[in-house]
Parts: sequence; structure tokens; C-alpha cells
Amino acid sequence: MRHDWKGFDDQGALRFETEAHTTELVKADAVLLALGGASWPKLGATGLWQSALRDKAIAITPLTASNVGVKVAWSEYFTSRFAGHPLKRLIVSCGVQRAVGEAIVTQQGIEGGAIYALGPALRESITRSGHAMLSLDLRRDVSETDLISRLTKPRGKKSLSTFLASAAGLDPVSIALLRETFFLRNEKLPEDPQALARIIKACEIKVHGMSGLDRAISTAGGIQRDEFDSHLMIKKMPGVFVAGEMIDWDAPTGGYLMQACFSTSVAAAQGIVEFVEKSRG
Ligand SMILES: Cc1cc2nc3c(=O)[nH]c(=O)nc-3n(C[C@H](O)[C@H](O)[C@H](O)COP(=O)(O)OP(=O)(O)OC[C@H]3O[C@@H](n4cnc5c(N)ncnc54)[C@H](O)[C@@H]3O)c2cc1C
Repeated sequence: MRHDWKGFDDQGALRFETEAHTTELVKADAVLLALGGASWPKLGATGLWQSALRDKAIAITPLTASNVGVKVAWSEYFTSRFAGHPLKRLIVSCGVQRAVGEAIVTQQGIEGGAIYALGPALRESITRSGHAMLSLDLRRDVSETDLISRLTKPRGKKSLSTFLASAAGLDPVSIALLRETFFLRNEKLPEDPQALARIIKACEIKVHGMSGLDRAISTAGGIQRDEFDSHLMIKKMPGVFVAGEMIDWDAPTGGYLMQACFSTSVAAAQGIVEFVEKSRG
């Protein structure tokens, strides 16, 4: 524990830096490298292993952020009150891509399962035109026609926010989000039932970037598949196996990432047992 792996020495021993900044060499019968990707680096996975493997001519696809939130230029008023608030039971779209789920307002923008699922479509649009449009259906279980009839009821002395809460069943963060999207366009929130119903079913948010690796749930890219055999042993380095996010694969969040890490670990462990048994004769 608390040893940083720095690479291999000329004889293939593992080179570690200790907490006291001394170097320790370890010769092993077999090695499993499971050093993660480079997302949320403050948790430990920094991706610094790449240079040690590139030195051994191992091909690595560049590490990029996956399952990551997007950046929105919210007003200070909105983030000071609503950063950290969840938006539940959404349908989120970007172009023709749709995802069902939840999202959370953040200081920098918006993140969560439904946003991660649209990652490729968002990234493609941002790369092509410098921004992407996210459309949020804030009442996915109520039709637009039903919303219009609910919002056509007399408002009485209720403020628009109170009316939206009682007639359309919107929570405070959803109402604030509607107001915010209009505020950001220097426009006033409409008050007629048809327009309100339309924007509740398609609240448009302008996204101007993807968040970086420091806030990403996972990492795409890594050691390329041609570099290891079916037991996940690096072909150019007999006895060195890899598992987990170091490998070049990508998956949605929701257990799939961890499952891929467990599965590759089991495959590599079986490979290690075979390799060690064979080398001991
Ligand atoms: C906030 C967050 C939420 C997530 N939620 C989910 C989820 O809901 N479902 C899901 O499936 N997945 C989720 N994931 C992803 C999942 O946690 C990862 O895919 C998985 O942990 C990767 O496992 P790994 O063993 O490859 O790497 P890691 O778990 O990152 O472990 C790598 C380890 O190697 C150590 N290390 C790195 N470099 C060195 C070095 N040079 N020397 C010594 N040690 C080193 C690190 O300190 C770390 O302990 C989440 C990730 C994050 C960050």
C-alpha cells in the first residue's frame, strides 16, 4: 500500500516509489496491472501509467472523458439556488437521440445518467457547431394536450410559479429551469397555455462543452485490444496482464463499467494461474 508504480527496470522488475521517496524493486512471477483510467484523478486513477507502457511500445488510444456532464452558462442566481438539485423522471433529447432518466443541475452545467447516455450525440454536435441543444421533457407522463387543458384553468391571483406548480405539477427546480432558459435568451417566460405546455415538454438548454476528465465517471481509450491475448496478457510482455478501465473500451454507467472491470479481472486472473502453472512446469 502507498507505493506508486513507476514502470519496469531493465530486468523487468516492478519499480515502485515509496511514501519516503525511496525506490523499491519487486520481481514477480506474474503481474496484473489494474490502474484504472484517468477520470476523477483525485481518487487515484491518474493515467500516469501510460508513459511506462508507451516506453515498451504498447499502443494506447488517447484517454478521453466518458459518462460525463455538459457545460451550460447558467446565471449566478440559478446556480446559487439550484446547483445540486435533481431533475427527475425526464426524457432528454439531443437531435434524434433520446434518453430517459434523471439529471442534476451543477455549478458548471448539468450531469446524470440521462445526460451521459447522450454523450456521443452531444460531443458530435459540439465538435461540429461549437454547441449542442438539449431538450428536456419535464413532465414525461403528461401529454402536451393534457398540459394545455390543465394550464387553461383560471389562474386567479396565483403567481405564474405557483400556478405552474399546482396546474402542471412542476417542482421548484423545473420552474426555475424554465425561467432560466428564457432569462439566458433575454426573453420573458410566456404565459399562454399552449406556449407553456410546449416548453414544459421541450425545455431547450444550450450546451457549450463537455466536462473534462476530472469530473468524468469513466474513461474511454486505453490499451488497444491487439496488444493483449485472450487472457489479457500483453503479447510484448509475457507475464504482465491488464484489467479494468486501462483497456480501450467504453460502456454506459449503471453497473456496466464495474461489470467490465470484474469480468476482465476474472479473465486475467485465470490467465495468471495458467501462466504461473506453466512456467513452474
Ligand atoms: C464518481 C464515480 C461514480 C461511478 N459510478 C459508477 C456506477 O454507478 N456504476 C459503474 O458501473 N461504474 C461507476 N463508476 C466507474 C467505476 O468506478 C470504474 O469503472 C471502476 O472503478 C474502474 O475500476 P479499475 O479497477 O479499472 O480502476 P480504479 O477503480 O480507478 O482503480 C485503480 C487503482 O489503481 C491505483 N493506481 C493508479 N495508478 C497507480 C500507480 N501508478 N501506482 C499505484 N497505484 C495506482 C489507483 O489509486 C486506484 O486505486 C463510477 C466512477 C466514479 C469516479
